[in-house]
Amino acid sequence: MPGFRILSMSLLALLVLSACATSPTGRKQVIFASDAELEAQAAQAFAQMKASTPLLTDRATIDYIACVANAIVDELEPPHDGLNWEMAIFDEDAINAFAMPGGKIGVFKGILKAAQDQDQLAAVIGHEIAHVTARHSAERASRVVTTGVGIQVAAILLGGGHSGATYTAYEALNAGASLGIMLPFNRGQESEADIVGLEYMARAGFDPRASVPLWQNMAKENEGGPPEFLSTHPSSERRIDQLVSQFGSSLKLYNEAQAAGKRPNCQR
Ligand SMILES: [Zn+2]
Repeated sequence: MPGFRILSMSLLALLVLSACATSPTGRKQVIFASDAELEAQAAQAFAQMKASTPLLTDRATIDYIACVANAIVDELEPPHDGLNWEMAIFDEDAINAFAMPGGKIGVFKGILKAAQDQDQLAAVIGHEIAHVTARHSAERASRVVTTGVGIQVAAILLGGGHSGATYTAYEALNAGASLGIMLPFNRGQESEADIVGLEYMARAGFDPRASVPLWQNMAKENEGGPPEFLSTHPSSERRIDQLVSQFGSSLKLYNEAQAAGKRPNCQR
């Protein structure tokens, strides 16, 4: 039976590739998805999104967002500084952003409604970069293989009501979902991206306390929200409590960065 044979071959491949890893916050991860394969899929989905969704052309806004992102990426350490980081800014009103394996970051113009200054924007971008460095997509893809939860979640994305302005973006996100790389992250991963993201922004000299008003704005602006900031996210109260509990260490990093002359001045 050829079908069975293919199945056992892929199970064998999974066992061979199976590996235990440790996340940046010390959480044990089981990852048996191939990074190279995920990165290739991500590059394909990212290219598809860029081709199907209008990109922002307003130079001042592009420079502003790039200024914040560059300040954070500049502080990354090996091996994450070696990734081919790439950002696309989509000309759509969705209050959203996403991250894909290999360092592909997407930001929708609408995020600036919730992220009202450079520090709040740094909280968003730090969070997305943390999803990449913590290999959350690889972890998620591994879970999809074992539990089949991916099909369910993709169905939510496909079934979610979307309106005219953001339709092409959702279509592209759905294309990513069918590849298994654009599914929502789980709560543990979201919390971890918050904590690690706070560290990243602070190291670059952005004020980590800005994460609180950011997530308050996000909760207010984003009722019935789109994929990355979907229901799998911690409730905004829990999220804010957790962020505040990290301020001791992140403010220390922030003060050190400021003292070392890292004082980003990204203007819109
Ligand atoms: Zn997230």
